[in-house]
Amino acid sequence: MTATEPTRKTVPALIDGQWTAHTGPRHPVYNPATGREIAQLPWATAGEVDRAVQAAHAAFKAWRETPVVDRVQPLYRFKALLEKHAEEVAAILTSENGKTIEDARIEVRRAIQMFEVACGMPSLMMGDSLNDVSRGIDSRTVREPLGVCVGITPFNFPAMVPMWMLPFAVATGNTFILKPSEKVPLTPTRCAELLVDAGLPEGVVQVIHGGKETVDALLRHPLVRAVSFVGSTPTAKYIYSTAASHGKRVQALGGAKNHLVVMPDADMPKTVEAIIGSAFGAAGERCLAGSILVPVGEAAEPLLKLLTERTREMSVGDGSREGTGMGPVVTADARGRILGYIEKGLNEGAKILCDGRQRSHEGEGFFVGPTIFDNVQPSMTIARDEIFGPVLCVIRAESFDDAIDLINRSEFGNTTSIFTNSGKIAREFQSRVEVGMIGVNIGVAAPMAFFPFAGWKNSFFGDLHAHGKDAVYFYTEQKVLMTRWF
Ligand code: NAD
Repeated sequence: MTATEPTRKTVPALIDGQWTAHTGPRHPVYNPATGREIAQLPWATAGEVDRAVQAAHAAFKAWRETPVVDRVQPLYRFKALLEKHAEEVAAILTSENGKTIEDARIEVRRAIQMFEVACGMPSLMMGDSLNDVSRGIDSRTVREPLGVCVGITPFNFPAMVPMWMLPFAVATGNTFILKPSEKVPLTPTRCAELLVDAGLPEGVVQVIHGGKETVDALLRHPLVRAVSFVGSTPTAKYIYSTAASHGKRVQALGGAKNHLVVMPDADMPKTVEAIIGSAFGAAGERCLAGSILVPVGEAAEPLLKLLTERTREMSVGDGSREGTGMGPVVTADARGRILGYIEKGLNEGAKILCDGRQRSHEGEGFFVGPTIFDNVQPSMTIARDEIFGPVLCVIRAESFDDAIDLINRSEFGNTTSIFTNSGKIAREFQSRVEVGMIGVNIGVAAPMAFFPFAGWKNSFFGDLHAHGKDAVYFYTEQKVLMTRWF
């Protein structure tokens, strides 16, 4: 056991302000760097899911009537507490997710930024008004909270993704139920402890645990008004259609397959550093990870030479050790799936430049080294499926137009980046790609908290995206008021 592994063995749930252990089946939580079990997670029974929804529903009336300036006070206090405990939360995050401690610190900082924005809710919730829309009649719009909102989150950002939802839902006056990924429940549970310490009233936030059955019970519950989901595309599609058919407002963010285009005029050393961070940061377990590298024309030779050299130098190991280049992937299953894709790439005729299977692994952790395939064809499985691991596929393009066609043929539209010194080419790229988040000389074009997380196509199902102003609109309903006094 490393120094950062938590000592708590049973992960509790938070319902109606009380910490309680669910009574459903128990599941292990692992440290991916050691392969050892670090906690037990009991899953919710149907009765416990209902109790959480009832508690959230009961707390809603008083919370929505609390003035918005008062609602944001515990969120300010939570932000300060999370800053104070940032190092501890980052260590917990690394111990259950595997990403490097440096990546975990950045993630915690991103979570804090969500609160910094949501604390501005008194301004963000303001409506419009116009006097004398007709003689003696004034009109204005107001935004009101929905009620019980649910968040279902993935394993790869256990501190940040729940906070794409929770602070915005709560600051707008809703009550919230978080169902975090069953693979990484410790980080969100620690954050919820800090929320309680910050003085959030009982019942405003519940944290419950489980898998598909727990989620299904939430999607079908008549008292749930809105569902926010982040995870893989098949699950996102399922959540979107199921929750919508039960009358809920839904935003469902899905998977991705992101292209990084490199023009011959790009600054190669800086581009290579950005590509390595994008493809292999967090072991490739990011929905914004670059997974297809598209060198255009003569860019290929100098780019791949430098990229291969730098990738071979990357250190792979326990992410809790300072300076580790890349940690393990999240579970033994994920490792098996990724190794299966590497096998498939070879069978389909791609040329392996860096073979992650050969990298030295420590102990029993779930390690896969950074892998690069060249000569990948768009029809190959490794070019189409989201691998969600440290595997970068190179598809060479003859021209800029070919690169754009390749991107626009993808079923996904989460993010893409171009590396070039030409402003004209960059501008044309931004305009022509059918993708929601676009970087120019940036490896991971992650929007800040005050902008929306704007995936397109099969990377997003819904109308209003996560965080930014979209979150304010998602978690509120609008009324238009007309007033005349006789
Ligand atoms: P996942 O879809 O397996 O799980 C996400 C959540 O859904 C978990 O809480 C899980 O318990 C629940 N779930 C899983 N299967 C379910 C089912 N059949 N029915 C109901 N609920 C179910 O995703 P993951 O493996 O935890 O996360 C990785 C995926 O998330 C990747 O595809 C990644 O691209 C995506 N992701 C997308 C974004 C984005 O912003 N678009 C951000 C982060 C992660």
